[in-house]
Amino acid sequence: MTKQRRTLIAGNWKMNGSRAEAEALAGGLAAKLNAATAADFEMLVCPPAVLIPATADVIKGSSMQLGAQDCHFAEKGAHTGDLSAAMLKDAGCAYVIVGHSERRADHHETDEVVNAKAAAAQGQGLVAVICIGETEAERDAGETLNVNARQIAGSLPDGSTAANTVIAYEPVWAIGTGRTPSAEEVQEVHAFIRAELAKKIGEDEALKTRILYGGSMNPKNAKTLLGLADVDGGLIGGASLKVDDFWAVAQSV
Ligand code: PEP
Repeated sequence: MTKQRRTLIAGNWKMNGSRAEAEALAGGLAAKLNAATAADFEMLVCPPAVLIPATADVIKGSSMQLGAQDCHFAEKGAHTGDLSAAMLKDAGCAYVIVGHSERRADHHETDEVVNAKAAAAQGQGLVAVICIGETEAERDAGETLNVNARQIAGSLPDGSTAANTVIAYEPVWAIGTGRTPSAEEVQEVHAFIRAELAKKIGEDEALKTRILYGGSMNPKNAKTLLGLADVDGGLIGGASLKVDDFWAVAQSV
């Protein structure tokens, strides 16, 4: 059965790349997208903030979507080093990742902060890619479903819809490690997340909302993961840094 949700293949470049590398990577992918006759997926790249303008320039005229890796929750003001959702929109972004586990860990971001950031993004007409996921200790303690339920309840702002929200389920222990949960485990958590979403935003919206899997997705495991009933795409780190790898993941759709 065909899914009613359009698959999203999203690349999180993290703190990687020079201007020249960003142009080569985004330009290479945009060229492939332009040449593809029937791309059955949406593609998104999220460069480091300073490379957003150069990336926006090279993808102009293609269907490639542009996103940022974080935003501040305030509209403007005394927040040295931060960027508002309005600034990211002005720079050409349509998406912004919020609540990535690396930000939750490095910058002590709580569900409350992530919720405020997602609300700021949605308020500017951006799609918030809200990341959730359990640590290895939490999984070992049998807490996976509880942790993800808590993060959904806490990190999703009121007013979230399928149009302004994407959920990225990223088990923290799978990020950058080469390890993934089994296909059955991924499907179980995604189906659970959709059920929790339904409690929060209603069943209709939950059925339309894209839930991405993230954590060591690569050209070898993408077909299996992307083929699961409640997996609507991927948030990809390491394998999004090479044109051929990222394109191969997208070709698995
Ligand atoms: C990520 O950081 O969002 C991620 C999924 O990274 P990787 O694909 O490298 O595990």
